[in-house]
Amino acid sequence: IPHHTELYGSTPKTSLPIVYHSDYNITFMGLEKLHPFDAGKWGKVIHFLKEEQFITDENIVEAREASEQDLLVTHTKRYLNRLKFLFERVEGISTATIIDLDAHQGNGHERDFLDDQRVFIMDMYNRHIYPRDAYAKRAIKRRVELDWGTEDSEYLQKVELHCDGALNEVRPDVIVYNAGTDILDGDPLGGLSISPHGIVKRDELVFRAARRRGIPILMVTSGGYQKKTARIIADSILNLHHQGLIGPEREGLSSAATSPTSGPGSSGSALTAI
Ligand SMILES: [Zn+2]
Repeated sequence: IPHHTELYGSTPKTSLPIVYHSDYNITFMGLEKLHPFDAGKWGKVIHFLKEEQFITDENIVEAREASEQDLLVTHTKRYLNRLKFLFERVEGISTATIIDLDAHQGNGHERDFLDDQRVFIMDMYNRHIYPRDAYAKRAIKRRVELDWGTEDSEYLQKVELHCDGALNEVRPDVIVYNAGTDILDGDPLGGLSISPHGIVKRDELVFRAARRRGIPILMVTSGGYQKKTARIIADSILNLHHQGLIGPEREGLSSAATSPTSGPGSSGSALTAI
């Protein structure tokens, strides 16, 4: 029995493929100011992108919160299991590749999709930090383990090599790109030494690999909470725009939908969830 859901409204053709909601910014009655991490980074990214006159409130897509009913549509109680959403609800999507470039080894999606042949996971991470989850590791089909203090040149070379390798091995209907910025030099948890320019370049390499093959890509910004992180994410999005890798949807550019938030007929080839 299909459950009622409002999550699949269509977005105007003029929208940029950028998804955001102000509720993303974590605030606890001012306590966030005492926290060394920048929990309000998403709002700042949006602020910078407005300052550069790339976006307005009108041309980005507002994220909708999934209701209890929406969650029942996925046939699972797990709120974050969005990928299963994609498989069940979006026509033309039956396989996905996760490119996980957050500094940490992934273990959420890995455990969710262990033994699920629809999902190919490539994960590049600092081998010495949390979670070192050997069980979840079995789900990673292309594993790239990095050492403390890995720098730009080695890192970017590996990103290019292994993105191409992963996408040549399996051609998915969609790419979900975890663009964690905790690889940034000075991150208290990541333990890697990637420069701001290196992060901008990394995102470009991943989007280019997707574009070359005509595969829709969804980027999520995830971890990394230094004070300068928001500026770097904004610069990266602007760079993707300048390189022609994201922008307003153009008719006939792509065929598959890219996100649970885009309804039938809305089909940007690249989507950025901030
Ligand atoms: Zn992380």
